[in-house]
Amino acid sequence: MGEMSPIRNIVILTGAGISAESGLRTFRATDGLWEDHRVEDVATPEAFRRDPALVQRFYDQRRCDVLAAGPNAAHAALAKLDAGWDGELLIVTQNIDDLHERAGARRVLHMHGEALSVWCLACDARHHWEGTLLDGPPCPSCGAIAMRPDIVWFGEMPYRMEEIFDAIARADLFVSIGTSGAVYPAAGFVQQAAQHGARTLELNLERSQGSHWFDESRLGAASVLVPEWVDEVLGA
Ligand SMILES: [Zn+2]
Repeated sequence: MGEMSPIRNIVILTGAGISAESGLRTFRATDGLWEDHRVEDVATPEAFRRDPALVQRFYDQRRCDVLAAGPNAAHAALAKLDAGWDGELLIVTQNIDDLHERAGARRVLHMHGEALSVWCLACDARHHWEGTLLDGPPCPSCGAIAMRPDIVWFGEMPYRMEEIFDAIARADLFVSIGTSGAVYPAAGFVQQAAQHGARTLELNLERSQGSHWFDESRLGAASVLVPEWVDEVLGA
């Protein structure tokens, strides 16, 4: 990477592929199923209105799965990059697990919400949460029984988009790790980064629908590709 202008600002987008190696499965665009549930039955506001118990039980289980999983070598490498990188860095993740943070990364933004966060619809407070919601626990802030998963469902606006777009506009390098390139708005980030003059790199298990937008695609397991790439960037 040495022959071009120096990199100062990096935006990294991570997706399902990086958590899959930690044993966490997620929504599959190929068949529309997530842990054998149709996504419209568990991951939409309509589903929550229609059958809140099913949705709460589903996310109670996802919370359990996240707590039982651990970060892998790809998460650890990104945490090392975060610690060693003096320029701007933003890790935008589509994943709802906290494996980036548990690996030690600090500059992480969860655009699709977090499994270990709950949101009170009565008072708007958010709380770190490791237990269940199916049993209707009261909100620690206001006492109301009105908490839902703090997850961006299909049909809802992803979190902190302005902040993401600002970071992409300043980025010299945009890296996409383990995402299919199929779900907008994240799928459009690479095009936006390229328009602003950033170099673009994809690290993915296989060629994605969005591969042709990237300057470079490296194919393989995130737990192998990400540590190699981080060592290149840090000049190790
Ligand atoms: Zn509340």
